[in-house]
Amino acid sequence: MNENKKENSFVFNANDIRQQVTLSAEPEVQPQDFADAFPGRDVLRKISVKLEFTSAGEEILAHGAVSAVLSLECSRCGEPAVREYNDSFDECFPNSVEYIDVRENIRETLSLMEPMKVLCSVNCKGRCPQCGADLNKVKCSCEPLKASPFAALKQLRPEK
Ligand SMILES: [Zn+2]
Ligand SMILES: [Zn+2]
Repeated sequence: MNENKKENSFVFNANDIRQQVTLSAEPEVQPQDFADAFPGRDVLRKISVKLEFTSAGEEILAHGAVSAVLSLECSRCGEPAVREYNDSFDECFPNSVEYIDVRENIRETLSLMEPMKVLCSVNCKGRCPQCGADLNKVKCSCEPLKASPFAALKQLRPEK
């Protein structure tokens, strides 16, 4: 029974909203409730959701503010980059609905929240291109590459 109650905390009775005209909710939400926004990856560390529903004539407007802490991989060094991200969604539901379910909206907002690139720190030094050492932690003894990026490209292509 407890399971059911938890499942339903993102589902709202449309009649309640129509009667109260506006309804705010801050459902209790655990990262595991929305782990499937990031299939196969343990990324979501924290999540909170604020919901506001407004009955507006022919439809019910749902606004949701989603705040999440994601642990992503730094694009430069590969170490975890833990950051808080905020995003929101707006959705209209026709007045004819009995229930308003915002689970899919929350899931979608989460999956769109992930940036293309993330750095563990703005000063991340990345990894040595030669030995792979994490330059934030160690100073390797490789000679810095003097060649231009174009010369490096040339090396990648076999000579004809
Ligand atoms: Zn990094
Ligand atoms: Zn090195």
